[in-house]
Amino acid sequence: MSPHVLILGGTTEGRELAAALAALPGVRVTTSLAGRVTRPGALSGDVRVGGFGGAAGLAAWLREQRVDALVDATHPFAEAITANAAQAASATGVPAVVMRRPGWQPGPEDRWHLVPSLAAAADLLPRFGPRVFLTTGRIGLAAFAHLTDRHFVVRSVEPPEPPMPAHTEVLLARGPFTVDDETALLREYLVDVLVTKDSGGAATAAKLTAARGLRLPVVVVRRPSLPEGVTAVPDVPQALARLGFGPS
Ligand code: NAP
Repeated sequence: MSPHVLILGGTTEGRELAAALAALPGVRVTTSLAGRVTRPGALSGDVRVGGFGGAAGLAAWLREQRVDALVDATHPFAEAITANAAQAASATGVPAVVMRRPGWQPGPEDRWHLVPSLAAAADLLPRFGPRVFLTTGRIGLAAFAHLTDRHFVVRSVEPPEPPMPAHTEVLLARGPFTVDDETALLREYLVDVLVTKDSGGAATAAKLTAARGLRLPVVVVRRPSLPEGVTAVPDVPQALARLGFGPS
C-alpha cells in the first residue's frame, strides 16, 4: 500500500518537500496549512486547511487518515503546532520528522542584539534612533504598541493585525528581496534600527546584509526551542533521508 505522508506546512521548504514526495512513485502526500494566508499558492499533492483542534485533534486525524509519517515543516516560530505535532506523534506512534531551515549567523561586521521575545525587542528599542523597520510578521505588533514616540515601518505579506503602534506605516510585500532593494528601502525610510525574527532562509536574509552595509543595529528575536527530545533536519534532502526515501 502507498505510504501517506502528512506535511505540516506554511513554509517554502514544506512546499519543496511536498513536490519532492509527490514526485516519488506510490507516495501519497497531504500538506496541512493553518489557513492564515489568503492566497497560499499551488502545492503538489493533497491540501487540507485549518487547525486540527490541538494535539488530540491532530492525533485523531493521523489515525483516521492512516498517516504513515508526519513532517513538521512549519515556520521556526510556530511553537504551538510544533508542540502538538510532537505530542500527537508520540500518542499515535506515527514516525515524525521536524524540518527547520537553519537560523542566521552574525558576522564580525554585524551589530546584532539577540533577544528572547518580541516584548524584549520592544524593551530595547529606546536605545536606538526613533525610526524602526519591523519585519517580525503581521501578528504580535501589540508588543510594540506602547512605543508612541517611535516611528514604525512594518513590512508583512498580509496586512498586520491591530493593536499596533500609533505611528505605523505598512509596506505589503513578499520576498525574496535583494540587497540593493533592501539598502534602498533602509535609506529611503531613514531607518535607525531593524527588528527581525531569526527566521533563517535566503528569501529574507538580504535585509541583514543591507543593515550590515549601512552599519545599522539589528534586534534579532531568538527562535523558541524545540520540544524536549526533538531534533530537526535542516533541509529537504535530509528530511527525505529520515523518511527513508533517499540516501542518508
Ligand atoms: P502556531 O502558533 O504554532 O499555531 C497556532 C494554531 O494554528 C495551532 O495550534 C493549530 O491549531 C493551527 N496551525 C498552525 N499551523 C498549522 C498547520 N500547518 N496546519 C494546521 N493547523 C495549523 O502557528 P503560527 O505561528 O500561527 O503559524 C501558523 C502557520 O503559518 C504555520 O503553519 C507556519 O508554518 C506558518 N508561518 C508562521 C510564521 C510565524 O512567524 N509564526 C511565519 C511564516 C509562516 P489547532 O491547535 O487547532 O490544530
